[in-house]
Amino acid sequence: LLHSDNRSPGVDCGEFVRATATQLVLLGSTGSIGKSTLDVVRHFPDQFRVWGLSGHSKIEELLAQVNEFHPRWVVVTDPKSARDLSGQPLPDGTELLRGEEGIIRMVQDPQTQMVLSAIVGAAGLHGTLAALDAGKTVALANKETLVVAGQLVMNRLKQQPGKLLPVDSEHSAIAQALTGHTSDEVERIVLTGSGGPFRGRSRESLQGVTPEQALKHPTWQMGPKITIDSATLMNKSLEIIEAHWLFGLPAEQIELIIHPESMVHSFVEFRDGSVLAQLSPPDMKLPIQYALFEGKRPCGPTRRMNWSELRQLRFESPDRETFEAVDLGYEVIRSQGTTGAILNAANEIAVARFLGGEISFLDISRICRAVLSSHHYLPQPSLEELLAADRWARQEVYRWKSL
Ligand code: NAD
Ligand code: MG
Repeated sequence: LLHSDNRSPGVDCGEFVRATATQLVLLGSTGSIGKSTLDVVRHFPDQFRVWGLSGHSKIEELLAQVNEFHPRWVVVTDPKSARDLSGQPLPDGTELLRGEEGIIRMVQDPQTQMVLSAIVGAAGLHGTLAALDAGKTVALANKETLVVAGQLVMNRLKQQPGKLLPVDSEHSAIAQALTGHTSDEVERIVLTGSGGPFRGRSRESLQGVTPEQALKHPTWQMGPKITIDSATLMNKSLEIIEAHWLFGLPAEQIELIIHPESMVHSFVEFRDGSVLAQLSPPDMKLPIQYALFEGKRPCGPTRRMNWSELRQLRFESPDRETFEAVDLGYEVIRSQGTTGAILNAANEIAVARFLGGEISFLDISRICRAVLSSHHYLPQPSLEELLAADRWARQEVYRWKSL
């Protein structure tokens, strides 16, 4: 059952057997989280049946995945790439679907049991909501879904039998530390963050940093958007909002600490003064596996702690003046309504414009703040109103010039 080649030396994996394989749909299978998820699935070939895959553009990579896993469904969301794939032979029993309708049909297939949501950005919202509407178990990497529509997601969870399991490493760590406890026992949660490639730098010195410099993350290998979010600390801002919705905590009970080694994935402080944490080397395969196994801990493919190499674990306060994105997350959970959708959309376009060389690094947070403060606020938006706010914010970011 278990592949011995990936085990750490000296680890006796034993056996882990579940009665039936889980039928898994993977949204965003060609991305960083998507590929790590397939690595976990390869390690447990009897435990998961890949029922569906989706990719936006990297067609050759998607086709290779289809030929390896023979899913029932493959969805291509980009129309041109869908035309490219439609000319290719697919394995018997695999059917090509297109666009958002394809995603919805695949996740709502009665035979789909679990959906791992790993599309990047607000583009991941519809598939995640459709899966929850159909009562599926959703392993959520796509934090933007909660940033844009946290209230709607939580309302759906109250009405449907579906479950939402965090994949983001910090939120997985917090969920693990909270297991067996109730929210009234919690004093606060402390999210850790590496600080990104510009930790310790002054605002002035960040003036002219290039996309290439910002894309060099010190501890995690991730897709380009979240890597830039990690450099601005917008990723922590989005995670503060994600934690607010997942754990039902107000801003005052969510703290942030910079931890350059990325070994401690977050803390929970309890009312009695105890602090619980979850530690491991930085590798997303572990929180992905924890979500896929719904809290069980079979022997998996991730690296083990090497205590003889571990010299120090550092913790420092975030520099919220240099990295002004952090404050925006707190503002969103205090104001709620349309603010999360606005912040997320503004950030997506600002990051794309930075990567395209149109605006500077510091412009990203500056423009997000400006768009947030000039938007037409709605306290209880519907899905349509959130999508309209998202569209407005995207347009608005294009009106801003670099300083
Ligand atoms: P990525 O850029 O590597 O992959 C994104 C995936 O989404 C690809 O499969 C791509 O084809 C698909 N995609 C892109 N645009 C799309 C669109 N418009 N419609 C449909 N599909 C589209 O990103 P990633 O690093 O894997 O991150 C995915 C999600 O997981 C993000 O929400 C990110 O915040 C979250 N996350 C990632 C990590 C990490 O280590 N990479 C850690 C925690 C959370
Ligand atoms: Mg994270």
